[in-house]
Amino acid sequence: MDYDLSKLTIATVGSHTALQILHGAKKEGLRTAIIVRKDRYEFYRSFSHFIDSFIIVESWHEVASKEVESELLSLNAILIPHGSFVEYVGPENIMKMKVPMFGSKKILEWEKYQDKKMELLRKAGIRVPREFKDPEEVDTLVIVKLGGAKGGKGYFIASTPEEVREGLKRLGNPDNYIIQEYVIGVPAYYHYFNSKVYNRLEITGMDIRYESNVDGLRRLPPQYAQKVKPTFTVVGNIPLVLRESLLIKVYEYGKMFVEATRKYVGEEILGPFSLESIITDEGEIVVFEFSGRIVAGTNVYMNGGPYTYLYWDEPMSVGRRIAKEIRKARDKGMLERILT
Ligand code: AMP
Repeated sequence: MDYDLSKLTIATVGSHTALQILHGAKKEGLRTAIIVRKDRYEFYRSFSHFIDSFIIVESWHEVASKEVESELLSLNAILIPHGSFVEYVGPENIMKMKVPMFGSKKILEWEKYQDKKMELLRKAGIRVPREFKDPEEVDTLVIVKLGGAKGGKGYFIASTPEEVREGLKRLGNPDNYIIQEYVIGVPAYYHYFNSKVYNRLEITGMDIRYESNVDGLRRLPPQYAQKVKPTFTVVGNIPLVLRESLLIKVYEYGKMFVEATRKYVGEEILGPFSLESIITDEGEIVVFEFSGRIVAGTNVYMNGGPYTYLYWDEPMSVGRRIAKEIRKARDKGMLERILT
């Protein structure tokens, strides 16, 4: 990598967790750049006290273009992937980009397919919901989920083969979907950071997603709620702390996941990732999903959270934690080990 390491720039796409990532990078003394769509420029420009360079594009397709790529290379940029980045640019284009990216690229490919995703969790030995390969097998309450990080859009609940078939038909018979047992309990999403520099796995926080309309249904008397089909469009995130006794299992699952990526993906997951679960009334943690990069739920801790405080004794967002890892790796001469 022929970069001027004293002028590294942390770059990302203007959406999702971009503000947190760039604010954190500035706190760690690094330069920052944002790739931003023209219609969002004014909003992001109001944060120019921590954003040094703006790369303006007409549409998200341009993010992987030669022009943007050469601009990023001239800034000595390291790209930080996030959910919208992966969704807008697409894992195939990200794989081809010459700009170094923080963390693992291969995991983004696994993340794209719902069945591959669940296979990795199973291989890790993590408890997952029952899965139905064929709509005809459905004999309990299930959730049907579409591929990609679409924030729960289009997911639906069913309890019979007919309902599953009907629901899929309504969505134009997509082929990237899975049918999962709908686990009864409460949702809890864990944020981790796997550090090469400190050689440890950190729990950086956890959250609950606020989803429309499923989270609104409890506001209705049951006789009215019954008439409404639940949907799962994420609109925000709510902070959470867990009973300390449950943290041990959460940590163990994080470790098992890291080990599985090393073994089966062929590239150990680095930096932030998340496991998404339902906790049942027996305290069982059932993981139904993972994200192989920073999740939007970390935005509730832009000024640090209870768990990051335990590691750092000062406010530390995940965005800042990423920049710290990059800065420390650079100073120790091990930058290439955390980039792909
Ligand atoms: P996902 O896109 O997999 O994160 O799912 C979106 C939302 O659907 C989650 O935040 C949960 O509220 C709900 N959900 C997904 N899978 C399950 C499951 N197996 N059991 C119960 N709820 C689920």
